[in-house]
Amino acid sequence: MTDRPRTRLFIESDLASGMAVECSRDQAHYLGNVLRLGPGDPVALFNGRDGEWLAHIRETGKKSATLTVDSCLRDQAPEPDLWLVFAPVKKAPLDFLVQKATELGVSALMPAITRRTVVERVKRERMEANAIEAAEQCERLTVPHVEDARPLSRILDGWPTDRHILLCAEAGEAVPINEFLRGAEGRGEPWAILTGPEGGFDQTELDLLNKFPNVSAVGLGPRILRADTAALAALACWQAALGDWQNRPPGRN
Ligand code: SAH
Repeated sequence: MTDRPRTRLFIESDLASGMAVECSRDQAHYLGNVLRLGPGDPVALFNGRDGEWLAHIRETGKKSATLTVDSCLRDQAPEPDLWLVFAPVKKAPLDFLVQKATELGVSALMPAITRRTVVERVKRERMEANAIEAAEQCERLTVPHVEDARPLSRILDGWPTDRHILLCAEAGEAVPINEFLRGAEGRGEPWAILTGPEGGFDQTELDLLNKFPNVSAVGLGPRILRADTAALAALACWQAALGDWQNRPPGRN
């Protein structure tokens, strides 16, 4: 089997054998100046649609780089359909949350402005850049879909009725998350995890959510977790119970 190149890049363009692919300016800088790679060096490419491909550098300039696509390393495969709807946190914890949620296999990141949300400026481009970097590093074949921040009520207005919501609730009635997920095995519907801001959800939001179909309040233990910890802990529990954690990383077995 072909050795996997250490360098992996996400690109927008289609991928097929023999194609020439133009890198972005940042990627050209990363390949040529940071990694000091040059013509002939191997790079793995993925675009979220066509699987993962072995490519090699054709030429690198100061602001550009061209690659030639050689052969397919991995076919595109289905990935868990799990959204994270979260009250955004401050800049550094948000970078961390986006990177780690991507590693944990989230399929969409949806920042929700709640009544007690303090952070209101959320840069989608920055979240996307973090998601791409984490997807490249963790060998995902996709990058999670990243949305602009919207009020929670607007997100719920357009909510797809078949998508089940795991509401992480530190107070009130809630089933321990592992108990709930054990009971949910075999349910085919798509899922979302919902976490609140550092101040928690307010009562009107909880009332709205309680009336909403397909919402289950779950507990993450006896400690109050920071909003980013709660989101990541819930994602890990879901992946272990209903997601793809029965699989091994590609090419390692
Ligand atoms: N202000 C609240 C804590 C909010 S923690 C208080 O002090 O009581 C931020 C978010 O993380 C919460 O809205 C919830 O979604 C999640 N969370 C934190 N700890 C949790 C726990 N033990 N169980 C379930 N969800 C939790």
